Amino acid sequence: MSDTDKYAAAVITSRRDLAPDLWVIRIKPDMELPFRPGQYVTIGLPRNGKVIERPYSICSSPTEQEIELFIERVPDGELSDPLFDLHVGSEMVVRKRTKGLFLKEAPVEVPHLLVATVTGIAPFVSFLRMLVERDRAGTWTPVPIAALHGASRSEELGYYDELRMLDADFPWFTYLPTVSRPWENPEWGGETGRVEDVLRKHADAMMHPGNGAVFLCGHPGMISNARALMRRRGFDDKEIREEQYWPD
Ligand SMILES: Cc1cc2nc3c(=O)[nH]c(=O)nc-3n(C[C@H](O)[C@H](O)[C@H](O)COP(=O)(O)OP(=O)(O)OC[C@H]3O[C@@H](n4cnc5c(N)ncnc54)[C@H](O)[C@@H]3O)c2cc1C
Repeated sequence: MSDTDKYAAAVITSRRDLAPDLWVIRIKPDMELPFRPGQYVTIGLPRNGKVIERPYSICSSPTEQEIELFIERVPDGELSDPLFDLHVGSEMVVRKRTKGLFLKEAPVEVPHLLVATVTGIAPFVSFLRMLVERDRAGTWTPVPIAALHGASRSEELGYYDELRMLDADFPWFTYLPTVSRPWENPEWGGETGRVEDVLRKHADAMMHPGNGAVFLCGHPGMISNARALMRRRGFDDKEIREEQYWPD
């Protein structure tokens, strides 16, 4: 398959920097790329005659015209490092097909616990934006949904304002952000510790085995700790879904 069969071109339309190694971009591909919440887009940059490509979860709701991505720059990362140097107007390539099964079976009629580290919030933002649209359209009967989001510092909680506003506006949604280095963040008044600690503290009050689904996304260590914690509470593997961003 040639590169033109595989890839479309995409241009960066906006960029929001959160921390020295974290940023949000919106890209506009030159063709339509349909997707579901929980899916990822594979983006790439040409380097030395080949395309370096990696998957990134989509933050946009499927009804949005642009694709929003929340990216962490990995030191010397083959793609994230050069991606960080791109600005509004810069171009990249995107695979013509979005992929991924995460959240595919999110049963929107039972409570959900969404647990993320830093950029792992991306697929949940897409999911929540979709549910808000459905709620406003009256096409969804709300069920309780909680998002637990962990980061080292509050500036890394890339969707803090949006999710706080959702929490205030929609009784079905609870947002529980936590920072693990509160001593670097003296103004922080929320939960502290790793997101697994917050999960341990609140899980029993939020949902019960047999009547809920748990979705874990991001850091491999968080995923294995959170999965073990939920299993100990009686959840079976069918009730726990995960999207791991890099190998353990
Ligand atoms: C389904 C899926 C969705 C993903 N979605 C996102 C997303 O929304 N946002 C995002 O930033 N990344 C996401 N990733 C990770 C992303 O695809 C890349 O792996 C990441 O950007 C590093 O690529 P790189 O080429 O810069 O580093 P590489 O040169 O490929 O890797 C460098 C090393 O860093 C490790 N690594 C990769 N990511 C991280 C990280 N975040 N922190 C610490 N070490 C890491 C790798 O295991 C590797 O050992 C996703 C991965 C998967 C599988």
